[in-house]
Amino acid sequence: MKCKNCGNDIIPTKKFSVLLFILLLILGIFPALIYLVIYLNKKANICPICKKNIYKSKEINNTNTLAFIVITVIILLMLLVISL
Ligand SMILES: [Zn+2]
Repeated sequence: MKCKNCGNDIIPTKKFSVLLFILLLILGIFPALIYLVIYLNKKANICPICKKNIYKSKEINNTNTLAFIVITVIILLMLLVISL
């Protein structure tokens, strides 16, 4: 597979955010598990050489934005459960 960013013939990998995973583990085992499930279902699209999305020539990094939305929703849900 050819990377659109650097042009190298690479095998796409997935980006795993260890920091995010630890943060979710602190919150609880379930948010961490949800993140693991999301990660496992995610298609490999990261170039191991330039660490960018192989399908996009211009890097639009919305992975972190999505992760933060997920965390916010989880925190809000947990607060709701606690308040009940
Ligand atoms: Zn690349």
